[in-house]
Amino acid sequence: KKKYNVVYLGAVEGFEVVTSVLNDCCDVTHVEAVVDKVASSLMEADALVDASMKVKITNSILEQAGNLKIVSCATTGSDHISREKALERGIKISTLKEDKELLQNLTPAAELSWALLMACARKLSGAYEHVKRGGWVREEFPGVMLNGKQLGLVGFGRIGGWMSKYAKAFGMKVIVYDPYVSSLPESVEAANLEDLFANSDFISIHVHLTEDTRDLVSSKLLSSIKKGAVLINTSRGDIVSQEGLLMGLKSGRISAAGLDVLQGEPDIDQSPLVQYCRENSNLIITPHIGGFSPDAVTLVCKRAAEKVKKCFSE
Ligand code: NAD
Repeated sequence: KKKYNVVYLGAVEGFEVVTSVLNDCCDVTHVEAVVDKVASSLMEADALVDASMKVKITNSILEQAGNLKIVSCATTGSDHISREKALERGIKISTLKEDKELLQNLTPAAELSWALLMACARKLSGAYEHVKRGGWVREEFPGVMLNGKQLGLVGFGRIGGWMSKYAKAFGMKVIVYDPYVSSLPESVEAANLEDLFANSDFISIHVHLTEDTRDLVSSKLLSSIKKGAVLINTSRGDIVSQEGLLMGLKSGRISAAGLDVLQGEPDIDQSPLVQYCRENSNLIITPHIGGFSPDAVTLVCKRAAEKVKKCFSE
C-alpha cells in the first residue's frame, strides 16, 4: 500500500500527535523551520502540516513541490503562504479559522492573562524576589482583593469572553468596551472606553492589532485611568502607548501592569519597559508565552493532521 509523504513543521509535541493520526497511511518527517530544509523536503512531499508559520511558503517553494496536495495549517492564519501560487497549482490550503469549537476551547492566552492579573493584584513578582533574597516581611506586599472589584475588558471576543468568566468566579463586576459585539451576556455591562478606564480597578486588553487599535490605549487615555488601577496586555504591544504606561507606573497612578507583548518584540534590548521592569517589581513582563502550551499544540496539530487524512481519502 502506498504511503504518502508528509512534512511537519513545528514543535515536537505536535510531531508526535501528527504521526499518531497519520502513521497508518503516511511517512511523516519533522523538518526544522529553515527555508532551505523546508524547500528541499517539500520537493517530495504530498502534504505539509504547518504548526510554525516561521517559514514563508513562497512561490518558488510551491513551484518546486511537484506532489504537494495540501498545506494544513495548525493556526488560524495562513498569510505566510503564497495563496495565488497554491491556487494556480491546485494545492489546498486549510486553516483552523472555521474550527470555532476547537478555538473556543484553546484557553492558554486567557489563562496567562488571568495569571498576570492575579500576579499584579498580589505583588507576586516582588514577593518572590524578596524571599529569594532572604526576606520575610509581608507588610511590604499588601494584596488587593479581587472580590467586589471591577474588571474592564477592551475587546470581548474569545479571550475577553474567558476573562469575564474567570472574573465572575472571583466575584468581580465586569464592564466591556467592544463596539463590534452586538449583544452582551447579562452578566456584563457595556461601557465607552473613557468610562471603562476612569472606573475600572483592573483593565485587560483583548483586541487584534489593526490600524484602528494601534495606540488605542493612548497616553491621554492612560492619564485618565482610575488611580491605582492595574493594566494587563497580552494582545499586541503597539495597542498600548509605552510612554503613557511608563509615566503611569512611575507616578503610581497605575499601580501595576502585566504584559506578554511589547512594541518591537522580539528585539527588546532598547525597550524602556524592559529597562523599567529590571528595577521595579510593579511591572511583570513575559516573553509572548500566552498562546504557547504543549496542550494547545497537541489539540491544533491533531485537527490539522485529520484534515490531511481526509484530503487523502477524498
Ligand atoms: P477575537 O477575534 O476573538 O476577539 C477580538 C475582539 O476585539 C472582537 O470581539 C472584536 O469585536 C473586538 N474589537 C475589534 N476592534 C476593536 C476596537 N477598536 N475596540 C474594542 N474592541 C474591538 O480575538 P482573541 O482570540 O480574543 O484574541 C485577542 C488578542 O489576543 C489578539 O490580538 C491576539 O493576537 C492576541 N493573542 C495573543 C496571544 C499571546 O500569546 N499573547 C495568544 C493568542 C492571542
